[in-house]
This record gives sequence, C-alpha cells and structure tokens, in this order.
Amino acid sequence: MFDVVVIGSGPAGYVAAIRASQLGFKTLCIEESIDDNGKPNLGGTCLNVGCIPSKALLDSSHKYYQAKKNLSVHGVQIDKLKLDLDAMMSRKDEIVSQLTGGISGLFKANKVESITGRGKVISKNVIEITKPDGSKENIDAKNIIVATGSKPIEINAAPYSKHIVDSTGALSFKKVPKKLGVVGAGIIGLELGSVWSRLGSNVTVLEALDDFLPMSDSDISKESLKEFKKQGLDIQLGSKVISTKNMKNSIKLSYVKEDNEIEMEFDKLIVAVGRSSNVDNILNDDLGVSIKNGLIEVDEYCQTSVSNIWAVGDVVRGPMLAHKGSEEGIMVAERIAEKHTEVNYDLVPSVIYTHPEIAWVGKNENELKESGIDYNIGKFPFAANGRALAVSESIGFVKLLSDKKTDAILGVHVFGPAAADIVQQALIAMEFGASAEDISLTMFSHPTVSEALHEAALASNNQAIHIGNKKQ
Ligand code: FAD
Ligand code: NAD
Repeated sequence: MFDVVVIGSGPAGYVAAIRASQLGFKTLCIEESIDDNGKPNLGGTCLNVGCIPSKALLDSSHKYYQAKKNLSVHGVQIDKLKLDLDAMMSRKDEIVSQLTGGISGLFKANKVESITGRGKVISKNVIEITKPDGSKENIDAKNIIVATGSKPIEINAAPYSKHIVDSTGALSFKKVPKKLGVVGAGIIGLELGSVWSRLGSNVTVLEALDDFLPMSDSDISKESLKEFKKQGLDIQLGSKVISTKNMKNSIKLSYVKEDNEIEMEFDKLIVAVGRSSNVDNILNDDLGVSIKNGLIEVDEYCQTSVSNIWAVGDVVRGPMLAHKGSEEGIMVAERIAEKHTEVNYDLVPSVIYTHPEIAWVGKNENELKESGIDYNIGKFPFAANGRALAVSESIGFVKLLSDKKTDAILGVHVFGPAAADIVQQALIAMEFGASAEDISLTMFSHPTVSEALHEAALASNNQAIHIGNKKQ
C-alpha cells in the first residue's frame, strides 16, 4: 500500500510526488509516456514538448535573428551568416533529454518510486495500471493525485495531417517552411510563429476573435500587435478557418473575414487553438468524482468530492501553466500531511516569450473598471530607461496599477526587455502586500531595466523622475 500515488509526471505530478516523499510518504508516480527506446518519458508536456523545447527554439532563433538584423547597430558585422537547423534542433533535443533524465535522478534522490503504464482509478483506494505490454497491475493507495495534464485541441476545419500539425509537430520541422500558416493568435501561435518567422518563414496568423490577446491589458495588446506586425507576423484578426485541403507538398486553406472568403496556400499549418484536459478514462464513473466542462472538479485546495482523491495542473480549473500546476502539487502533498498550505490564485504570473516579452500579474485595467475599483496608473516607457537604450531594447513599457485609496499594487503589466523578471519582482512585492510607495522607496541598481518598475511606481503617484508627470 502506497501513502500517495500520483498519476502523471508533468510539472504538477512530479513536483507533488517529490514533495510527498520529502514529507515521509511512501510515494509512487505512474507515467504512461515512453520514448522510442521504451524508456519512461518523465516531465510531461512542459519538459518534453512544451515550455522547455519551445524556449530553446525561441532563444536559438532570437540569436539567429539578432545576428541577421540587429547586431550591425552594435558595430558587429557578420558576413556569410548560415542557419544550421539540424544543430538548432539537436541542441533543443539535448536540453530536453538532460531535463527529463534529471527527473529520474530527482525521483531516486527523493525516494519516489516510478512505474511506466497508464493509470486509472478504479475504486477509492485502487489504481489499475496498464503496462506498455498490455499486462495489468493493481496498486493500493491511501491518497491519489491525478495530474494527467492536457493535449492540443484539433479542429474539424483543419484535421492533423502531414502538413497540418499541432505545437509538438511545430517544434520539429525538418526545414524552414517558406509559407507558414498558424491558426490561433494565442500564446503558442505567437511563440512558435515568432520562432519560424525569425528563421525565415513568411508567417500568417489567423485568429477567430476580433481582439488581440484579450486576456492581457489593453495597452499591451495594442502595442504588442503593432510590434509583432512590424516584425513580419501577418496577424489577421476576425478570421475564421472554414476548410483545408491537403495537396502533395502544401495545404490550401479557406477562411472567412468580414464576410469575404479568402484562400491561402501554406507549406505547413500549425493549429494552436487551445488545449483540452486529459480526463477521459482516468476515473471510474462510479467513484463519484465530478467532471464538468472537461475539467475535474476540485475545491480551492485541489481536493475532489472524494476526500482522498486530488487533482492538480492542467486537469483542473485555472490557467494551463507549469508553475501553477507545480504549486498545486506542493499544496496537495502538504495538505495530505495536514499542513495548511494554500495557493494564491490572485497572483499567478503570465509570460509570453516573444521578443520583446509580455508579462503580467494581478488585475488589468478592464478588470478593475468592471469591478468598480478606483485606481492610479503609473506607466514608464523603456525608451526613457538608460539600460534599455544601451542594449537597443527600448520598445515597450511597464504599467503599474494601484488602488487609489490604499496605494496597494493591484496589477503590473510589462511589454519589453526582461518583462518576466520585472513582473516577478512586482509579484514578490505584491505577495507581501506592497504599496506603490513601497516600490518607490526601494533602491534599484543603476543601470538596469528593472528601474522602469521603480519609475512606474513613482509615476503612479505623480513622482516620476525621468518622464513628465500628469498635471496635479
Ligand atoms: P502535463 O505536463 O501535460 O503532464 C501530464 C503527464 O501525465 C504527461 O506526461 C502524460 O503522459 C501523463 N498521463 C496522462 N494520462 C495518464 C495516465 N492515465 N496514466 C499515466 N500517465 C498519464 N507553461 C508555462 O508555464 N510556461 C511556458 O513557457 C509554457 N510553454 C508551453 C509551450 C507549449 C508548446 C505547450 C504545449 C505548453 C506550454 N506550457 C507552458 C504549458 C505547460 O506545458 C502545461 O501547463 C504543463 O505542462 C501542465 O502540467 P501538468 O503536470 O498538469 O500536465
Ligand atoms: P490559447 O488559449 O493561448 O490561444 C488560442 C487562440 O486560438 C485564442 O486566441 C483563440 O481565440 C484562438 N482560436 C480558437 N479557436 C480558433 C479557430 N477555430 N480559429 C482561429 N482561432 C481560434 O491556446 P494555445 O496558444 O493553444 O496554448 C494553450 C495553452 O498552453 C495556453 O492556454 C497556455 O496556458 C499554455 N501555454 C503557455 C505558454 C507560456 O506560459 N508562455 C506558452 C505556450 C502555451
């Protein structure tokens, strides 16, 4: 009998398993995915086909693009620049195998047992494992954590084929497509569209909605759309894909925009219209665990209606983000140990790893308007930040929103260099209940791009030093 059995070894599952074992529980992690050599693929979507390989390609393609377009302003001239896509892909694959192999090491070091197979909860305390050879084994568990993650959504108008791929396929093109279509201008569409655009593809992004990045602050959405178009991404909003036709070496696609039907031809098409949770055939129907709108229903502590069955990560409500899943994994392990750990769902950071990056935490202006909260805005452009100018990265701004009455920081939104790291600084301050004045009175190293956060905080109270303030 195990104290804790975790189904799924993604960032939600493997972190939950490690923490459970650290707390003294006899812990097993079940993972169904295996590589070509029959070895377990630990790490889930994030390590194998998500966060890590996409960031490896974003960084490599950015270096190539810089060498091609941006280094000359620094006085660095490169003749005969050449792209070695095979080397770029090998580097990405090596990083993935280093990190996934690292999880096995972490399991060993933390005494987490692991088994390869597909897990299904068949009764409150029993999990059936179907092994790769088809044989079955039942495992007894006092507590069960479901962390089975998510998969890409396929659409009828563009079913996957040789030339129509999901995000996983788009991480392994063998050559740079001349004409690349992307369905969905969400996070994956923008990140992977940027990768291939930097490497030379002519990229068209078709987005069904009329709004660009509606979940972000409206200033960010406006300014980033302008910048991405300038970079060469042809982003078509209000465009609904109606059909695709597979040709020998390409695909033909029809979409409707403003009542006009438009046809385009692409070498490859990436479909990135969101992900759906892996909830099918994981929990026996008679267990009484409710699945609603494709998600396992849980309370704020990730506990299902069956008290010893928990669910974390992409299979439950909330943003599909690795860090959110990991924190839930830790919380559940600690709750099983009868600690009072919580996740602060008000402070989940979001990052889009384009160049410049987009990042935010807390409320945006629209949300504050909707909830009727009076707020101050402090906005500081990177064009007025010395370090950003020194590195020729002066696009974008930091926008800080604070409560008009209490001065508490309510949201921080950044489009620009090191946006993710600047938002992380703000998040730590917010976690400790900081006001804009607390940030204003904090010393920031000079010259750093983080000084833009300092100035945005000052600006929210009309005290900015390096830009003009609003009339008092
Ligand atoms: P997963 O990582 O999906 O892991 C679930 C695991 O469970 C898988 O290994 C699966 O094989 C296994 N499994 C499923 N069913 C069973 C079963 N019945 N039995 C046994 N095993 C099973 N998030 C970020 O925060 N930052 C990023 O930069 C980022 N980039 C991304 C880029 C891409 C291209 C994609 C696709 C996603 C990205 N994400 C990013 C999202 C992130 O990958 C997910 O939110 C995260 O992996 C979810 O973690 P999880 O543990 O819930 O599920
Ligand atoms: P998404 O929800 O970010 O974006 C999907 C986009 O596709 C939306 O803008 C939506 O309006 C559009 N869309 C939906 N149906 C469409 C259709 N039929 N035609 C045209 N457009 C359509 O989803 P995603 O980009 O697939 O990413 C999935 C999840 O993975 C995200 O929710 C995110 O949480 C996670 N992710 C995170 C990161 C990161 O943190 N940097 C990176 C990649 C993925």
